[in-house]
Amino acid sequence: MMVRPAEVLHQDDSREFWEFARSRKLAMQHCGACGRFRWPCGPLCPYCASDSFSWQQLRGTGRLVGWVVYRREYLPGFPPPYAVGLVELDEGPRFTALLDIPPTKLDADLRVRVKFSRAQNSDQLLPVFRRDDAEKSE
Ligand SMILES: [Zn+2]
Repeated sequence: MMVRPAEVLHQDDSREFWEFARSRKLAMQHCGACGRFRWPCGPLCPYCASDSFSWQQLRGTGRLVGWVVYRREYLPGFPPPYAVGLVELDEGPRFTALLDIPPTKLDADLRVRVKFSRAQNSDQLLPVFRRDDAEKSE
C-alpha cells in the first residue's frame, strides 16, 4: 500500500515519533507525572499539564473502535475505496491511521496490528493498521 506523507511530518513535537516510525516502531510520549500515554504529541500532558515525559514504545496492537470508508478520490495516491480507522491500542491511547483492510472486512473490535508502509515519493515510513491475524489468513 502506497501512502502519501502528511504535511505535518516534521513538526517539533512529533519529530521523535517519526524517527521511531523510521525504525518500524510505534512510540508515544509517556507522562512522567501521571503515567499516561499522550497522543497527539505535544509539549504538555493533556491530563495533568506536566511537561515531563519520556518516549516509550508500544506493542502496536489493539482493536478497531471506529472507521470511515472513503469512496471518492480526495487526494492523488489514495484510490478509493480505502479506510481510516480509530484504533484503541492495548496500552490505552486511541490512534487514528490508515487501514490496510478491505472495507468489507471492517468490524467493531477487530484485532489490528501496526505495520509501516513507505510514503509515496518519500523515504518516510507511516503507521498503517492491518488485521492482527493477517499473517495466518493470507
Ligand atoms: Zn500527565
